[in-house]
Amino acid sequence: MKDHNPLPGLFAILLASLMFLSAAATADVKITPLGSQEGEFCQLDRALILEDPDGTRILYDPGRTVAGADDPRLGKIDAILVSHMHGDHVGDKHIGAVGDADCKSTSFPVKSLPNTNTVNIALSKNAKIIAGSEMPKFFGGKLKALGGDPKNSQLVRFGASRKLGGVTITTVPAAHSNGISGHMIGGELGDMLNAAGLTAYAGPPTGYVLKFSNGLVVYLSGDTGITAEQKSVVADHYKAKLVVINIGDTFTTGPAEAAWVVNELIRPNAVIVSHANQPSTSGGKVIAGTRVDEFSKLSEVPVHVPLSGRTMVFDGEGKLQ
Ligand SMILES: [Zn+2]
Repeated sequence: MKDHNPLPGLFAILLASLMFLSAAATADVKITPLGSQEGEFCQLDRALILEDPDGTRILYDPGRTVAGADDPRLGKIDAILVSHMHGDHVGDKHIGAVGDADCKSTSFPVKSLPNTNTVNIALSKNAKIIAGSEMPKFFGGKLKALGGDPKNSQLVRFGASRKLGGVTITTVPAAHSNGISGHMIGGELGDMLNAAGLTAYAGPPTGYVLKFSNGLVVYLSGDTGITAEQKSVVADHYKAKLVVINIGDTFTTGPAEAAWVVNELIRPNAVIVSHANQPSTSGGKVIAGTRVDEFSKLSEVPVHVPLSGRTMVFDGEGKLQ
């Protein structure tokens, strides 16, 4: 009788383990902050790229720290999300390159009005712009005027959803303002609005809830104060496991309010801070006494700091891998 050779069995086990590991590795969501300084979290950093395990790449609030459509950090972009029309989110101006401005800088050398950084990136990448309220028609008009396809600007209203690759996208209410500056409109109407100190109507500002193909549900707060929907809609209905929350104060919830939202209303498994409106790190370490520091001490769930260019990887439950 021939001896049983154990090697094929061992190879089969090894192969199965490798297949399992590679499947596990690809079932995570990658989140990469695009800030103004490599490895830091700076004054006006907002932009994040969220990548589904299926490769769908979504850019959230490009703002002023994406160096236009040619920023090499962008790569393929399938869709851009815009929470509201303010210049620090749509991108009325921007850095020319990473490291252009110091971490505290509020002046950016490249102007992008009246087109906006968002529209320029969408045009160049042939990406969709997915937004709520009255914003999609405005973006569609800009795309058309610049030779793009206005259908690339798509609406998703509160309570509805839209699927892009493996990602289900919806908007949720935010308590903030959402006027379109005359500088983004241009022409006679733009001049008249600017002279009168008024803005054009764009409907309510929004946050987003994204459900990725690995099951991860992410809440992007946008600029907002505390809202009842953070419990009833974001937590109770959508069951967000990872929260990206704005902590800048004056314009949005500050550290204390944002921590209360996280601890009492949503109770996710982890939180990424955003919109701190001050230099928050030095050498990649949180600076004592900053809003990020204050928020981190108050939060009852793990807090992740969005260091520019440093990809964070999350499983379906919002745990950092
Ligand atoms: Zn803002």
